[in-house]
Amino acid sequence: MDINESPLSRTPSLYVVATPMGNLQDITLRALAVLRAVDVVAAEDTRHTKGLLSAHGIAATLMAAHEHNEARAAEQIIGRLAAGEQVAFVSDAGTPGISDPGARLVAAVRAAGHPVVPVPGPSAVVTAMSVAGFVEGGFHFVGFLPPKSGARRSRLEALREGTDVTVFYEAPHRVRDSLRDMAEVLGPDRELVVARELTKRFEEIARLPLGEAQAWLDADSNRERGEFVLLVSGATPVEGLDVEAERVLKLLLAEMPTSAAAKLAAEITGQPKNALYQRALAIKSNAETGL
Ligand code: SAM
Repeated sequence: MDINESPLSRTPSLYVVATPMGNLQDITLRALAVLRAVDVVAAEDTRHTKGLLSAHGIAATLMAAHEHNEARAAEQIIGRLAAGEQVAFVSDAGTPGISDPGARLVAAVRAAGHPVVPVPGPSAVVTAMSVAGFVEGGFHFVGFLPPKSGARRSRLEALREGTDVTVFYEAPHRVRDSLRDMAEVLGPDRELVVARELTKRFEEIARLPLGEAQAWLDADSNRERGEFVLLVSGATPVEGLDVEAERVLKLLLAEMPTSAAAKLAAEITGQPKNALYQRALAIKSNAETGL
């Protein structure tokens, strides 16, 4: 594409535009061109977005589109698109629709028959993964855990057997409690990466065992401030079980208690009893949590 070409499509469209998470320079040339060219910018917080736009010399018409008015805002935006206007949507920080409003708006606009165009840029999950140094590339993005400990622990239990890196967003006033629940439910030996205040003045990226997280927080009161991405290494896969052992174990588990099933499966298949027992616990836990 020619750099001077119009950033907008001929057909009136909704442009879903990623914006900086902190450093105002983290915005693409295309995002700036789209925000400059559209007829209206729908924003999660118009005051916040006005600051970003004026830092880049853009005087756009703004309208509010947030979690609490998303349905009504969607109707207004669809009306504007039908009238031939071009519309951009931005959230407060990062990529809309990622633990942010946007998904309902996108679905409504698409259902009304108008194009939705992504204008990619920063997102805290990808930014944190890029500096976490986990060699296995896969990750499971969870976003925010439930605020109450009971629900949070249940959610963590459902994630416990996953072998991919798990990525959480967390607010500063919950980070200590969430890290405590993670260490207790997922185990203290998992690797934790705390990515705090990414792209901002007090950016910090630390890697430590999950069991040391409380001591790490205690060491400096500033560590409980700001915005957090928490990344936790996955469960170590149980090695050495072949497909047949897994099949036998599942059949036996349907008929008898866990330890008896593991013992009998070991006798039938010749596979190690402890590995079968660990696998049986994982199968039962996944069945209880519906995974
Ligand atoms: N849409 C955003 C994205 O694409 O990442 C996420 C919005 S969500 C409402 C806000 C959460 O994202 C914060 O509580 C924090 O967990 C994470 N986050 C956003 N900016 C961050 C930053 N600069 N450093 C670390 N985490 C950040």
